[in-house]
Amino acid sequence: MEGIRTLRLCSNKNLPEFTVMVKGVVIGGNAPMAIQSMTNTDTMDVAATVAQCRRIADAGADLVRITVPSMREVAAMQAIKKELHAAGYDIPLIADVHFNPQVAVSMAAIADKVRINPGNYSDRVGKKKEWTETEYRQSLTRMAEKAQSLFEMCRKHGTAIRIGVNHGSLSSRIISRFGNTPQAMAMSAMEWMEVCRQFNFHQVVFSMKSSNVLTMIEATMLLYSMMQEKKLAYPLHIGVTETGNGLEGRAKSAAGIGALLLSGIGNTVRVSLTEPPENEVVFAKLLLEELVQIEYCNYTFFDGVLHYAEPKTDKVRLVAQAAALCGYLHYYHKVKKLVIENPNFSTTENQALADIILQACRIKMSKTEFISCPSCGRTQYNITEVLEKVKAQFGHYPNLKIGVMGCIVNGPGEMADADFGIVGGTKDKVAVFRGKERVSNFISVEEALLLLQQIMA
Ligand code: SF4
Repeated sequence: MEGIRTLRLCSNKNLPEFTVMVKGVVIGGNAPMAIQSMTNTDTMDVAATVAQCRRIADAGADLVRITVPSMREVAAMQAIKKELHAAGYDIPLIADVHFNPQVAVSMAAIADKVRINPGNYSDRVGKKKEWTETEYRQSLTRMAEKAQSLFEMCRKHGTAIRIGVNHGSLSSRIISRFGNTPQAMAMSAMEWMEVCRQFNFHQVVFSMKSSNVLTMIEATMLLYSMMQEKKLAYPLHIGVTETGNGLEGRAKSAAGIGALLLSGIGNTVRVSLTEPPENEVVFAKLLLEELVQIEYCNYTFFDGVLHYAEPKTDKVRLVAQAAALCGYLHYYHKVKKLVIENPNFSTTENQALADIILQACRIKMSKTEFISCPSCGRTQYNITEVLEKVKAQFGHYPNLKIGVMGCIVNGPGEMADADFGIVGGTKDKVAVFRGKERVSNFISVEEALLLLQQIMA
């Protein structure tokens, strides 16, 4: 039997770790795994955002993230914070800023943690392919300058930072040197880590996200070993992005998060689903419970074949545990086949569950792969409903990837390897993509589905 001896859930262990305080929540070291989720309301709609934060907190999240795309939302964040306090909720608030340094610095005085994206904070995602050594160095200097003002503000207000690398929005500079690869993702984080050390700012968490489970695992593992080489251990936020919904979305999250946590890597998790965000918290908690029991579950792994025979009566729990196991074993040993033998489900149901998990790990593609973001304040159409429609209409193409994304700002980049896509635009309008090419103006969802059908024919 392969794999079983190394299979255990533990915390990051070999190095003394920086712990990060986000209000009262400790991330890193021996602190319990922190669970977080993100609102998908319009941040300017203070009442709706407060109500959603409360539902996320009631579901058991330790932290909640809110999108702050521009200076307009900064005042709204202040109001959200005030109303949550008045209602007795002191859950730490994270401002999801991505690329606007002015917004990030402003939010450092209001939020408990600020998330920035190194791919576009001081660099451009852009198309520039060639970077001279001088240009490269100048860009790093710009990064340090922009980081310094953010660090100063964070230090003053006790605010933490997440440097959140996304596979879909790497800077052209880092791609020019390392390609669009897990290594580029890890290097993008390492560059920022150097700047953090240069300014002696250590209230930082790092993350490596991708909609491709293996890319996300590989990038995080790489970052972890690069930190080990330098005898550093910053806390890691882990999660798979744009997983979609239902059992499929849960299987991707479980495979990616499971593989890392079972390797002892990760301090805070975000399950990402195109569903109400409180569902993410429920599944994250359930996944952690299943991971703790995984060592004792009924499975064998031999010659690339994983047999999973834990008699779960609940499909979500089964998917959580079996997908985590499959993601973990696949990373280290390559899984060729998964057989689920659960007496509580029919042979067809067991096969369907195995197919979902194999697809999540991209071991066997038996239907269309959907890449769909959880949406956020940038989304102006009913993405949950549209994803269901797209899945129903275009679910039977095993060789295709279809993206259903919330916004035109980040959507096209984040679904970069999709063959086709629908991306949100102005109110209730979406645009259709063929690969990276936009093939429509903003049109209604009905028109978009028709167009999709035509161009896929
Ligand atoms: S793609 Fe756009 S809408 Fe979707 S989560 Fe990312 S920023 Fe929000």
